[in-house]
Amino acid sequence: MAGNTHIKPDASLEPFASPDHLDLELQSFLEEACSRLCVWLAKAGQSGPLPSLSVMPEVAPALEGLSKESLLDDLQLVMEGAYQPSHPGSLAHLDPPPLTASIVADLICAGLNNNLLAEELSPSLSRLERLLCKWFAERLGMPTQSGGVAASGGTLSNLMALVVARHHSGLQNDSDAVVLASEDSHVCFSKAIRVMGLESSALQYITTNPEGQISIEALQTKLKKLRFEGKKCFAVVATAGTTVRGAIDPLVELKDLCVREGLWLHVDGAIGGIYGLSQKTASLVNGLSLANSITLNPQKLLGITKTSSLLLVANRSDLISTFTTGLPYIEPAWGEEAHGGEMGLQGTRPAEVLKLWLGLRQLGEKGIEDLLDGSIHRREYFEKQIDLSKLMVKTGPLHLISFTPKNFNQSQSVRWSIDTRQRLLAHKFLLSRPLLNGVYYLKAVMGNPHTQLIHLRKLAKLLNQSVGV
Ligand SMILES: *Cc1c(COP(=O)(O)O)cnc(C)c1O
Repeated sequence: MAGNTHIKPDASLEPFASPDHLDLELQSFLEEACSRLCVWLAKAGQSGPLPSLSVMPEVAPALEGLSKESLLDDLQLVMEGAYQPSHPGSLAHLDPPPLTASIVADLICAGLNNNLLAEELSPSLSRLERLLCKWFAERLGMPTQSGGVAASGGTLSNLMALVVARHHSGLQNDSDAVVLASEDSHVCFSKAIRVMGLESSALQYITTNPEGQISIEALQTKLKKLRFEGKKCFAVVATAGTTVRGAIDPLVELKDLCVREGLWLHVDGAIGGIYGLSQKTASLVNGLSLANSITLNPQKLLGITKTSSLLLVANRSDLISTFTTGLPYIEPAWGEEAHGGEMGLQGTRPAEVLKLWLGLRQLGEKGIEDLLDGSIHRREYFEKQIDLSKLMVKTGPLHLISFTPKNFNQSQSVRWSIDTRQRLLAHKFLLSRPLLNGVYYLKAVMGNPHTQLIHLRKLAKLLNQSVGV
């Protein structure tokens, strides 16, 4: 009934909000859900990083649809069993508390339900994504023809980068062509190689130096060997921020080498790339701007809600020539632009750009700098509290730090790391337990802005006490 704006007296939750009148049931549902979320966030300090008990709600839909109240109760059960990134002791991984404006933007994103596949399904949001990618690329110092696309996570951004590099090199049909990356590069590259239909030997690992950076000498030797074997290389992957210690490969030297050899340089900056945004920290990732492509994961440090990853390329047209298919069922993109669905691997995808954009707007230059700088400051402070006569530390210039008792073999390190992790959990500290060069470490990621110096002192004390004298 057009023009019907009355509200049903016995209001019940409709499956879809009315296009004609304010849906007060939806509104109160949202308000109640939001207030429960706020309570959950506010309880983070008392709870702990991990839930103590967790009850699953019914999984299958009931015969009749549920009321608003029952839906909220179901939601509550899932919330009670969730990991709590806002607890100050949540230090295990690259999963910080959610940024406030990002939470709101994510909600609005769901409500808009636009599709970044094509311009007509997301007019303002497609433009926003293009402009924000451009802003990122320019801020990091990439050339004027640069651009990028958002993807649901760094694994996808890295996969797309390798596909673009292979396309650019003209080696799509060379099943012997290889990618070179350091032995500390992220595991997602071995997935990417499989997806690309290559043998696992197409990903060749280069040794690292004592600082955990790719060895340029070893890389040169490998390139010589490949030439001798008659094998081609379609990309060198540099890591700006390795998983266990946050090492940054020598980007300027790698670029020189890649230019001499005519090779694509991809920088996996899922951890470290974001430090390029602030003047105070940009020198840590010196040379980032020279990359042919860069993966950035704003979800990992800035608190942009998951997922938020960008693939930036020095030349936007490489992205388009790699992924364009024509979309015969959709009107052409406006202006000279390409549809989102022809700039990357994903077709239909949400406007994840909204929470990234609004989050950055909330932080401002100053807030971004404080988050980046604060993370490094916490790592430095914590590092100073570690008793180096007992523990061996692996770290780098960023906010990750790993440690293991000195002179432990693998089995001793297994025991120590499992026991200590458990003991720390009792004190509400969640650390991770990575394996590096055959030894288990405990790792702390200092990306949680709620972690204060008093927490760090307590954590260091517990760790120092975990090793006998
Ligand atoms: C997290 C990470 C990835 C993968 O990103 P996802 O968002 O988890 O898919 C890739 N490389 C590095 C260095 C990472 O830290």
